[in-house]
Amino acid sequence: MLVMKFGGASVKNADGVRNVGRIVSQYAEDAPVVVVSAMDKTTNALEELAALAVAGKHQDAAEQLNRIRDFHCRTVEELFGDRKLLVLSELDDLFTELEQIVRGLLLLGDSPPRIFDRIMAFGELLSSVVLYRHLREILPSVTKVDARKIIVTDATYKGAEVIRHLTEEAIRKTLLPLKEQIVVTQGYIAATPDGRVTTLGREGSDYTASLLAHALNAKKVVVWKDVPGVMSADPRKYPDAVHLPRLSYDQAVEMTFYGATVIHPKTIKPIQNKGIPLEVRSFVNPEAEGTLIGYTPAENPPPMILHKSKQALITLRPGDFSFMDEGRLQRIFSALRKLNINLVQRSAVSLTVCVDDAAETIRDVVSPLTDEFLTETTSGLSLQTRLYPRDFSVPAGALIIQLNERAIHAVLPD
Ligand code: ADP
Ligand code: ASP
Ligand code: MG
Repeated sequence: MLVMKFGGASVKNADGVRNVGRIVSQYAEDAPVVVVSAMDKTTNALEELAALAVAGKHQDAAEQLNRIRDFHCRTVEELFGDRKLLVLSELDDLFTELEQIVRGLLLLGDSPPRIFDRIMAFGELLSSVVLYRHLREILPSVTKVDARKIIVTDATYKGAEVIRHLTEEAIRKTLLPLKEQIVVTQGYIAATPDGRVTTLGREGSDYTASLLAHALNAKKVVVWKDVPGVMSADPRKYPDAVHLPRLSYDQAVEMTFYGATVIHPKTIKPIQNKGIPLEVRSFVNPEAEGTLIGYTPAENPPPMILHKSKQALITLRPGDFSFMDEGRLQRIFSALRKLNINLVQRSAVSLTVCVDDAAETIRDVVSPLTDEFLTETTSGLSLQTRLYPRDFSVPAGALIIQLNERAIHAVLPD
């Protein structure tokens, strides 16, 4: 079995959907499971829609909803011509439901996270109708499966935790009987065991593809992007970035952890556990080589330049000016567990962590620590990493090197 994932950029208009149709046709013999994201920037547009509704801006919310509707209807008209009615009526059902939720929000003036996730899910619900109907026109044996029936999560809205055993069971039960067919399903969206809609977090569709591949023991996952593959840096920011034909799972995990947004960081682990290869290929140039992520590492890769934006630094110092000992570290880490920690720097009298900037959560977790520690938080930062290949030889034998304002630390054999 083969799993393929098409992101928002690949289905940003009618031509994009046609192009995806051509790519899927080339793989039709493998009967792929096709995971699709919301078209273009629809998820952002839905986020704005929810914000306008919560702010009680009736007129603006109605206009925003119309923009999203017009965009999808125009694409359908262009794709299906005089066969558009069925598809339009399917979209219309979804828009009626969305409108009702938005009306509820306008009345409520509040956005409980679970309603937010219901709204955000519409991007993928809409795009999957469009792609499914298009594939049905050009290929035999195409089915659509609702991802909310096969990706099962807890109720952490805006970034739910997948319940692995329930998800595997549901995927196998639903998709194995369909293995001769091309299946279209949605990325990013999921549901709790009792059927409430959740999402896997922004950009989470790659992760959906990986969960499917893991459960189905797929022979490969292919994610189709607007870049030639994984590059040594984001080519939008660094035009000199070099294409990497191969990467090991570990290299890919490291790159995505430190900010290579080309693949969602959670994508690698499930497929690595089963040794399933992941290809990153260009939907603009589908014949080109792409990047193969597997056991074989990149050969002589250049230093990789990575950016992680929206970061904050938190520094803690014991209030009585004593050492930052292990007992204190334990208390700090236990308090910080709700944050995503990306880098840790400990000195004799302080601990600094670089975390994803989530202002409210940071305030909540840091405030109980102020009884024991002097704390300082700086936000609006970005974490910049140069990742060297494993055999990069900085000071002979160094195991860890860290730079900070006043010191270069290298951990060396005794
Ligand atoms: P999708 O369409 O699946 O959502 P994304 O837009 O999220 O895909 O990911 C592709 C983008 O990732 C590229 O347009 C590129 O700007 C960005 N990117 C960031 N880092 C890298 C990298 N190291 N290699 C390639 N692309 C990168
Ligand atoms: N549509 C979702 C987002 O924009 C998920 C994804 O594209 O992966 O975040
Ligand atoms: Mg994306």
